[in-house]
Amino acid sequence: MRAPPFCPYSTCTYHTRAPVARWWIRSGFYDTKCFGPIPRFRCRSCQRTFSSQTFSTNYYAKRKVDFHVLEGLIASSMSIRSLSRTLKCSCGTVVNRTDRLARQAISIHAQLRPCASLHEDVCIDGLVSFDRSQYFPNNITIAITADSRYALSFTHATLRRSGSMRSSQKKIREKLYRGLTFEQRALERSFSELLDELERDRTHQIRQPLVVITDEKREYVRAFKAHRLFRNQDADHRTVHRTVSSRLPRTFLNPLFASNYLDREIRKDQAAHRRESTSFGRNVANGMSRMACYLGWHNYSKRFLIKASVKENKTHAEKAGISSKLINDMRRMMFKKRAFLSLLNLDPTEKRVWLKSFPTPGMNRAAYLPAFALG
Ligand SMILES: [Zn+2]
Repeated sequence: MRAPPFCPYSTCTYHTRAPVARWWIRSGFYDTKCFGPIPRFRCRSCQRTFSSQTFSTNYYAKRKVDFHVLEGLIASSMSIRSLSRTLKCSCGTVVNRTDRLARQAISIHAQLRPCASLHEDVCIDGLVSFDRSQYFPNNITIAITADSRYALSFTHATLRRSGSMRSSQKKIREKLYRGLTFEQRALERSFSELLDELERDRTHQIRQPLVVITDEKREYVRAFKAHRLFRNQDADHRTVHRTVSSRLPRTFLNPLFASNYLDREIRKDQAAHRRESTSFGRNVANGMSRMACYLGWHNYSKRFLIKASVKENKTHAEKAGISSKLINDMRRMMFKKRAFLSLLNLDPTEKRVWLKSFPTPGMNRAAYLPAFALG
């Protein structure tokens, strides 16, 4: 690196905008086993030092892992242990690099999402899976555009296990749930969070109303009627909630096809969400990081139609109206240049994935987050 782009310390005046004139001075080198000699710099404003590695996705890393390869493998139904065997590193290293990749994926998604067409209908549906054990089912609610199948955002809710159970299972549930409190109306909260983001991002004018398509769950109907998108409709603003019966065949003609399609793809491509899998998630925050990597790959790397001609390489993001040059430029940066939280304008759900603040049921301690992820 010839010149650092800005001061990496968020409290420094040269963090958000560095002057054109040389604002740093060279401060020698330090040697690393993995990356060779690394140049150090000192900021003329805050007098603090940093290195070229500070701006790299490999910041603080002691071992090289190809993020491009990791992304492809995460999207190919590989579990953490399987990844550690393939990449010849520990499970901890796999989780660490997955978190880094997730933050990079969140960063480019937050910057590219406003460039997509804002007029498409949006499907919202929940993927039902579980964390730790089947006594802690979850609902990962995902918003996706109806035609281009561009995943917009996602969130997580832990639910109580319900339905028919044997008496022995009921006893285990009682034992596991002792001393635990479950969030009230978690499904409604998840759906409302995604509506908040649609309200901020998408057009909902009377001429181009926002159409939200879901199944007939009562929680969705209740949350929609309580939301500002419904309550603040007037002569200029309009939002339509279209509900679809879950009994309708899950074909291309189903208005919820985009959600059904993504649900099927996640079940196929994510080890933690396969049916009867031994690779289920043990930690919600880590699971959300893997989901962020997967949806980043789905939007910006995966071909829109696998059956299309081999020359047709459009991704879901391109179908949603984002230019391929912009996507390619951002993707190139994504694997190399570290994204800084302080320089991004993230949605609350993206911030929770970044900060790993989704709690795991039955675990009191928060997921580990390295200090540099806060920068
Ligand atoms: Zn500085």
